[in-house]
Amino acid sequence: IMVRELESKPVIITHEDDDLREVARKMVDNNINHIPVVDSQGILRGIVTSWDIADAVARGKKSLKDVMTRRVIVARENEPVDVVARRIDKYNISGLPIVDEENRVKGIITAEDISRLIGKLE
Ligand code: SAM
Repeated sequence: IMVRELESKPVIITHEDDDLREVARKMVDNNINHIPVVDSQGILRGIVTSWDIADAVARGKKSLKDVMTRRVIVARENEPVDVVARRIDKYNISGLPIVDEENRVKGIITAEDISRLIGKLE
C-alpha cells in the first residue's frame, strides 16, 4: 500500500506569521496535533505540533517562528506506507507532511492513519 492510497483528511496548514493562539485554535477545532507551516506558494517551511504549543506556553514564547520545527521529516505519495511507519518510529514523531517534488504540501500522514489502516486489513 502506497501513501497516496491512504484516506486522509484535508490538510490544515498555517503560515509562519500566524499568531500562536490561532494555531492552537486550529488544532482544537480540527482535532489535530500536527500543522504544516507553508509559504504563500504552499511550499513546506516547517511543522508545528501540540507539543510545540505546550513548549511555547512553558517557556513563554509568543511567536510561531520561535517554536516551529524547520527541518521537517516528510513522506511522499509514491512511497510505501510501511517505509513511512519505520520513519515515524526512527524519528520518534507522529505525523509527516506529504509533499510533491516541489515540496508543496499535499497532505499529512499520522501514526493514527497507519493504525486505522492496519485495523481495516485484519
Ligand atoms: N513523540 C511526540 C510526537 O510524536 O509528537 C513528541 C516528540 S517530537 C520529537 C516533538 C518535536 O518533533 C516537536 O518539536 C515537533 O515540531 C517535531 N516534529 C513533529 N513532527 C515532525 C516532523 N514530521 N518532522 C520534523 N519534526 C517534527
